[in-house]
Amino acid sequence: MSVLGDQSSTVSHDELSVRTRAILERLGVDVDLDVPRSHETIVARSPITGGNLASLRAADASDVDAVLADARTAFAEWSTVPAPVRGGLIRELGELLREHKDDLGALVSIEAGKIVSEGLGEVQEMIDICDFGVGLSRQLYGNTIATERPGHRMMEQWHPLGVVGVVTAFNFPVAVWSWNAVLALVAGDTVVWKPSEKTPLTALGVHALFQRAAAKAGVDPKVAQLLIGDRVAGQALVDDSRVALLSATGSTRMGREVAPRVAQRFGRVLLELGGNNAAVVTPSADLDLTTRGIVFSAAGTAGQRCTSLRRVIVHSSIADELVDRIAQAYESLSIGSPLESDTLVGPLIDAPAFAGFKKAIDAAVASGGEIRAGGQRVDDFGENAYYVQPTIISMPDQADIVRHETFAPILYVLTYDTLDEAIALHNDVPQGLSSSIFTTDLREAERFLSVTGSDCGIANVNIGPSGAEIGGAFGGEKETGGGRESGSDAWKSYMRRATNTVNYSNELPLAQGVRFAPVHG
Ligand code: NAD
Repeated sequence: MSVLGDQSSTVSHDELSVRTRAILERLGVDVDLDVPRSHETIVARSPITGGNLASLRAADASDVDAVLADARTAFAEWSTVPAPVRGGLIRELGELLREHKDDLGALVSIEAGKIVSEGLGEVQEMIDICDFGVGLSRQLYGNTIATERPGHRMMEQWHPLGVVGVVTAFNFPVAVWSWNAVLALVAGDTVVWKPSEKTPLTALGVHALFQRAAAKAGVDPKVAQLLIGDRVAGQALVDDSRVALLSATGSTRMGREVAPRVAQRFGRVLLELGGNNAAVVTPSADLDLTTRGIVFSAAGTAGQRCTSLRRVIVHSSIADELVDRIAQAYESLSIGSPLESDTLVGPLIDAPAFAGFKKAIDAAVASGGEIRAGGQRVDDFGENAYYVQPTIISMPDQADIVRHETFAPILYVLTYDTLDEAIALHNDVPQGLSSSIFTTDLREAERFLSVTGSDCGIANVNIGPSGAEIGGAFGGEKETGGGRESGSDAWKSYMRRATNTVNYSNELPLAQGVRFAPVHG
């Protein structure tokens, strides 16, 4: 049964459009959704049917300029509001998200193609980071540090940074904004968001809720603004020195363009880029649990998470058994409209994503890969909607295609004989986001988590690489970009640190014993 209340197995595009507009209205979105199409419009579509949902005006250079000017003005006041009072705005936002969770979750499903529980899960993640942010607003602490000079005190303070530009990817169309915006707003920064051009409607929904939260909290709504646009609008944020921190989530290709440009103007970047996540499976692993963990991480979200499992590195003694188990589990996965409650695998986002899927499979086969499951498009949903079978490919070695991130449900299987070999294979990719080991051997688990183990920002034991919670810092190394968002002390990226030394004595001793006294007489 569809969450839209439709009894049929597929929702018609007209039905989807009507429902989408009703959701937008309930969320409070009040913009023209039918701007005549031109090169200055962004077309919102649904990957469920491949049809268009709306046509929106794209921000041009003068919009970007005006938004940044407003963000700077709003910062002057917002940065002086006490942090716990700033937390009040986040509390209101969390309440509104709770109230509208079903609508916003459904919108995520419609526009990004996530299954219902994942759409709702994304909104839950927003609610969780709001709860975290409210607490954080009373915990922006600095250290007091022992000084070598008598009668002195040395301490750190954390001050708001300025305007934070947030550029986001299509596959987490709402949660990633909240990871950034909540921390930035609590920190006293103002936020300008440029969402993916593939998911503008969810961004409008979130922004409408934010504006309502600001009104309830009596806060200038300009503390968080939205720019609907494509990469041109993103580039304008990249190049503008009014943006103190540019937090960019997306492909490594995008990060490679963005990072040097921001560095050129001595701005700060926080990069959350592509992953190529693996699971090492050792002979002692609980294969039931391992299979479940792998299937969720590799086939869930149709392989379109930055943390999706793309490589299994399995001991050769259990490789065939594990692949048989995963292949069997794949047969029972229902592929179809993400709005149906029994669907587990929804569509790829668009035609280029499908082209990437096909190209990767061809390249893997050309490199000696053997397709063990899947590999085909599921044609039942119209020519503009791209549903594919989750795919398993056994590889003789870590060929070039395996070392690249393909944003689709393709799982490469590699075998190993010693744990050293497994870890070397694991780390021998350019990306470093998330990783896991399935084992019941304490020594193997600890080795994987140790300095000579996984080189990723996230390393798990007996759970797959995807499905992080907001309490930990999220991000990865190497070509994943090095950024950390969300929990732990990730808030420090959104603030500037001032080290203060106070002399409360009558003397002026210098550090390191330096003497600088004028000679008298
Ligand atoms: P993408 O790189 O195509 O686009 C991401 C965003 O960057 C969009 O808003 C786009 O308009 C903007 N953009 C692109 N080029 C730009 C430029 N030169 N200057 C400024 N902005 C630019 O990515 P996508 O296809 O939307 O998302 C999928 C990718 O994102 C995958 O590689 C995935 O691994 C990655 N991702 C990473 C994380 C993470 O936390 N590490 C999270 C989600 C997605």
